[in-house]
Amino acid sequence: MAHDCLFCRMINGEIATDVVFEDDDVFAFNDINPQAPHHVLIVPKKHISTLNDLSENDHTLVGKVTFAAAKIAADLGIAEPGYRTVFNCNADAGQAVFHIHLHLLGGRRMTWPPG
Ligand code: 5GP
Ligand code: ZN
Repeated sequence: MAHDCLFCRMINGEIATDVVFEDDDVFAFNDINPQAPHHVLIVPKKHISTLNDLSENDHTLVGKVTFAAAKIAADLGIAEPGYRTVFNCNADAGQAVFHIHLHLLGGRRMTWPPG
């Protein structure tokens, strides 16, 4: 847990959060500035700053984050029409919060390539 990390503080309940899903390892909540009708952030409870900081031991954890995204998409009714999942890493991708998070975006048609 990083005390100066916004998402760690949300996970610990220090900041009120619109929680969508939670289990022992994974925490998911609605994005405060949604870019689609559904925009959920799925994070590991373990603090990891960027994808570059993953270790071999984190493989299962990242799988749980990904599986949670798929499950939330199904719960939201966007599994069949489709959705996008994105991890932004560092400056060129526009990463703003340095606790890895999987964006789940859906409820509208996405464009490709992304901006
Ligand atoms: P990044 O650019 O790092 O991939 O995405 C960070 C995301 O966190 C953004 O989509 C932003 O809207 C969201 N975010 C930033 N601060 C907060 C907050 O305090 N609460 C919630 N729910 N989302 C936040
Ligand atoms: Zn953190």
